[in-house]
Amino acid sequence: MARKSLESYTEREVLELLHDNVDAVILVDAEENKYRAMTRRNMFKEFIGETGDYHDLIEKLWFHIEGSSELITDEYKAFVSYYADFKGKYSRRLKVFLEGSSTPYFVQMQVYPTRNEKQYIFVMDELDDDEYVEEFMTTKKVNTIQNTYLFSMYVDLVQDTTSSLSVTEISDETVNSSIKYSEWRLMTVNMIAPEDKDQFLKITDPEYLKANLAPGRTISLDCMMMNLEGTYIWVKLIFSRTATANEDDFRFVFMVQDIHENFEDLMSTLRQYEELAIADSLTGLLNHGGINTEMLNAIDAHKKEGTSVSLMMIDIDFFKQVNDNHGHSTGDRTLKKFAHIIEETVVDKDAHIGRWGGEEFVIVYRGKTGDELYEVSETLRKNVEAATFPEIGQLTCSVGVTELRDEDSFDDVFNRVDKALYMSKESGRNKVTLK
Ligand code: GH3
Ligand code: MG
Ligand code: MG
Repeated sequence: MARKSLESYTEREVLELLHDNVDAVILVDAEENKYRAMTRRNMFKEFIGETGDYHDLIEKLWFHIEGSSELITDEYKAFVSYYADFKGKYSRRLKVFLEGSSTPYFVQMQVYPTRNEKQYIFVMDELDDDEYVEEFMTTKKVNTIQNTYLFSMYVDLVQDTTSSLSVTEISDETVNSSIKYSEWRLMTVNMIAPEDKDQFLKITDPEYLKANLAPGRTISLDCMMMNLEGTYIWVKLIFSRTATANEDDFRFVFMVQDIHENFEDLMSTLRQYEELAIADSLTGLLNHGGINTEMLNAIDAHKKEGTSVSLMMIDIDFFKQVNDNHGHSTGDRTLKKFAHIIEETVVDKDAHIGRWGGEEFVIVYRGKTGDELYEVSETLRKNVEAATFPEIGQLTCSVGVTELRDEDSFDDVFNRVDKALYMSKESGRNKVTLK
């Protein structure tokens, strides 16, 4: 076609030009929740119908960004403020997947408000410039620090308004919206893991925030929230109040940060420390504190559910001689072997075995009476007697056994088992006494 001078174009021709050069022009009525495509070309022929539901269209456009043609879970929709209206012009680039396909289309989208409230013109065009697409992909990849902030929003509690600052997973630009804070909060709670819902509602309560968030200060909550794929991840919710001299002016930035990976690491470290704190380093059995806890919990279970609980205390006979004759490290190895014999004899998840200190061991046994535990003790005593300890040869041990009684305190039951052990020692060692 011959080049025309700018002066020779009519307004209608310019509109035709636009019509010929963009892939889709869509009229939208947000109030009626309807759209009508005026122009639909190339991929858009498949992607959108001639007319349809506006919310469906918006969902398709936003949620194809995550790299799949899957539709987003219902709960996640609370993350986006598309239920609200566009207040100004809006422009962004999208990665769009057609249903069942894994090859994305890159689309430039512009939204123009019209003079009629809640009616817009969406202009969309597929980006087919290879170079451009490559650049778009690269920026996305480099953007990782920002990606740990999933979502941020500006809230005015007095007006009960929100505006979305950025939704990293969905858009990296500001979406002006007019969703009420109170509505947003009730939508978002659906995405919070059931065990965290109460905490979320507490901390997002306008009255709570007003009472607890001083100007310029920040509070946060770690909880689990559903991500785009519909699985729960650890996030940090951060509320940061605008510094203001006016106590009645209450505005804050709300942010959701993805802390999943770090949190998993932290939790496993904490679990390791927890185990270390109650383990005896020489034998790997529970330590004194660990046994204390087990006994207190067992006393609780006895009071609440009537579970029978019995206690065994074991002391190696003449152990001082082992150290004196063979040295301390042989003594240590002997203690380990001794602990091993206990573990092999008492294999039951209801038996909590610990080293009480030195060469004394304790077993807190749930679901066993004193008589039953006496039998176990006899077996243990015989197993120790029959064992051969390297460098030492034979060893024996003395044992005290008792059953927890209703009126017993923690000290009562320990004093009694101690007495029983003492009686075994007094009557010649290598004995079991039930008291
Ligand atoms: P009894 O039959 O009356 O129990 O005699 P005993 O020698 O076992 O009793 P006593 O309580 O006098 O001695 C316990 C000894 O255990 C004292 C100490 O040398 C030894 N011992 C305590 N803790 C450890 C330890 O962690 N490692 C080693 N190697 N020895 C320990
Ligand atoms: Mg002792
Ligand atoms: Mg001893």
